[in-house]
Amino acid sequence: MSHADQKSAVIVGAGIAGLMAARRLSRAGWRVTVIDKGRGLGGRMANRRMGEACLDHGAQFFTIRDPRFSGYVSKWVTNGQATVWYEREASAPDSPPERHYVGLPAMTAIGKQLAEGLNPVLGRRVTGLAFNGERWTVADDVGSTCEGRWVVLTAPVPQSLDLIDRNRVELPASDRTQLNRIDYEKCIAVMVALSGPSGLPAPGLLRLDKAEPLALIADNQRKGVSPVPAVTLHSGPRFAESHFDAPDHEQIAVLLKAAEPFLRSPAAQTQAHRWGFAKPVQVHPEDHYNCPEIRLALAGDGFGGGRVEGAALSGLAAADSILAHEETLPQSIHEPRSI
Ligand SMILES: Cc1cc2nc3c(=O)[nH]c(=O)nc-3n(C[C@H](O)[C@H](O)[C@H](O)COP(=O)(O)OP(=O)(O)OC[C@H]3O[C@@H](n4cnc5c(N)ncnc54)[C@H](O)[C@@H]3O)c2cc1C
Repeated sequence: MSHADQKSAVIVGAGIAGLMAARRLSRAGWRVTVIDKGRGLGGRMANRRMGEACLDHGAQFFTIRDPRFSGYVSKWVTNGQATVWYEREASAPDSPPERHYVGLPAMTAIGKQLAEGLNPVLGRRVTGLAFNGERWTVADDVGSTCEGRWVVLTAPVPQSLDLIDRNRVELPASDRTQLNRIDYEKCIAVMVALSGPSGLPAPGLLRLDKAEPLALIADNQRKGVSPVPAVTLHSGPRFAESHFDAPDHEQIAVLLKAAEPFLRSPAAQTQAHRWGFAKPVQVHPEDHYNCPEIRLALAGDGFGGGRVEGAALSGLAAADSILAHEETLPQSIHEPRSI
């Protein structure tokens, strides 16, 4: 294996966890290949156009609890890739108000910024994983392959485990038990272009926590994402679970009816999106998973804190653990000595 190949990784997923990991490794001089099945960058920090309307239909905002994440957010704000949507009184006395940030012009801006210089491969679903004791060969659904000394899986954990199982990759039994416990709830998102302003009061976010069937309404125009009136409706987890396979028109009818009392203008156009793994409800106790024996890492919001921030920090943690592992290898393996 050449020296260059010794510092190489394939990263599955171009959400914030995968892109954070990729950037960290790339900055450390690694060759990284990022592959995502989606057509766009950012994973669940997603945005869709519907005529003139523009709607964030996954994560609506992100917050900062950890100073390690705050440096990134400050840079995005300075560079015009993120802004404060609104502030909320902190629950703890004497704490500063909690800022809710959004990507500019939409949530996908963060993924686009992080992906600069990485040239992720989009629209390719990873289906094959094979480790020959030295390197991984990763195959996608159009038959292309790439290689890396490490592989980092950042899909929602049940999807990563499914990929692992289909390819008969063995993990230590106790590790596997812990990974199996990570669980997510579903969400149905309905995107609605309105024929006039939504009428939602500032800042344009209505949270009906734990409410069913409707849990949230976000006004994309007030948020600054859409030039025309458009709202995103998020279902509660129970409705999503019971109606996940229902036809779009049924999902739309129920959520729209529940939202109507809060909206001043009628719907002009609608679309539904099913999130099978929206948010983790049971996370791993660590901020990432690393199996150095087979040089495989897992990261994403299923580790540590969940949410956008947790996913970002998990990607960084996975990259750091890979770098730390490689740095502790004996010199003869780590870097062939030149004569
Ligand atoms: C409806 C909804 C609302 C949310 N609201 C908020 C919020 O307001 N605030 C907040 O902080 N968080 C929110 N979240 C959660 C937040 O979006 C996630 O925690 C975060 O974006 C997860 O990032 P990630 O990189 O771990 O995973 P993802 O963003 O899911 O990235 C994983 C990527 O892997 C790709 N992938 C999967 N399998 C394969 C494969 N086999 N081959 C290739 N690529 C593959 C996927 O396409 C995806 O792009 C919300 C999520 C949803 C769905």
